[in-house]
Amino acid sequence: REWERRLRKSATPKSLSGHTVLVTGAAGFVGFHVSRTLRQRGDRVVGLDNFNDYYDPGLKRDRQNILSRSGVFVMEGDINDQALLKKLFDVVPFTHVMHLAAQAGVRYAMQNPYSYVHNNIAGFTKLLEACKSANPQPAIIWASSSSVYGLNSKVPFSEKDRTDRPASLYAATKKAAEEIARAYNHIYGLSITGLRFITVYGPYGRPDMAYFFFTKDILNGNQITIYEGPDHSSVARDFTYIDDIVEGCLGVLDTSKKSTGSGGKKTVSAQLRTFNLGNTSPVPVTKLVRILEKLLKVKANKKVLPLPMNGDVKFTHANIKA
Ligand code: NAD
Repeated sequence: REWERRLRKSATPKSLSGHTVLVTGAAGFVGFHVSRTLRQRGDRVVGLDNFNDYYDPGLKRDRQNILSRSGVFVMEGDINDQALLKKLFDVVPFTHVMHLAAQAGVRYAMQNPYSYVHNNIAGFTKLLEACKSANPQPAIIWASSSSVYGLNSKVPFSEKDRTDRPASLYAATKKAAEEIARAYNHIYGLSITGLRFITVYGPYGRPDMAYFFFTKDILNGNQITIYEGPDHSSVARDFTYIDDIVEGCLGVLDTSKKSTGSGGKKTVSAQLRTFNLGNTSPVPVTKLVRILEKLLKVKANKKVLPLPMNGDVKFTHANIKA
């Protein structure tokens, strides 16, 4: 098969670091940047993405083309395809899996709940099954989300805070995936690190995120909706620049220990970690809009509404102390 030939070829370049990394969601926003940086520093990288149409697949193809030019083959495929995953792990001896494929977005979960369960829970489990059976067993680094802090959150969020009141189905699937990861670590000795990303922004960013569609709507003269908390307090987000997220992902990859394949034996416990990846400096959304107005030199046509109970939390704010 053509993809198998390309896969073997793409995995051929020598890895300077000794790492061979499978990046799922490589045509996505974060996956694109992580794959490119890994390749630039000399890791072997193979990407996997299903190019779904949650947002413009043309943007994903653009990212794929850029990656292809820098030596990263992004194959089209789904993490729910178990036969494909098996083949992939049979052909390439991955040392690490950077799992960034998911159904993202909080509000979309109201219309498409099953997409979250299918991709973020079932798909994640299938990927862990494939890692469990692979030889060598790769270490896994994957994207959870700050949304797991949900309605319990006192700010800044610390990794030790409660995560038992998700405010959206998206958050619930990330929380469920964290528990599934814990089980695979404990039972099968997989080395797993979950990263709770916080509102990532930057070039080639996601068109469904506020900074992107606010810019578009302000430029097109369309009305934008700003949500506010009780007593007209501003909603705030701990916007985190993509380069900082990439640095965090690579740092975590470099400190990942090998999976132990311990098969539940207590004597060989595998690594299990959870980290916030955030900026620890929340910006009120009203300020974001003022900044955009200034940069675009256009006054926004604003509508202000109370924050609906549809999944958005009032604040995101990471505690990033060790
Ligand atoms: P993204 O939607 O741009 O990237 C995800 C990619 O995964 C997409 O290209 C999509 O086509 C692919 N994908 C989805 N389901 C798949 C499947 N079943 N098989 C193969 N590919 C599939 O999102 P992103 O912003 O790059 O997010 C990456 C990860 O980080 C996700 O897990 C997301 O939940 C998490 N996260 C992101 C943010 C953020 O602000 N961007 C914040 C918190 C958590």
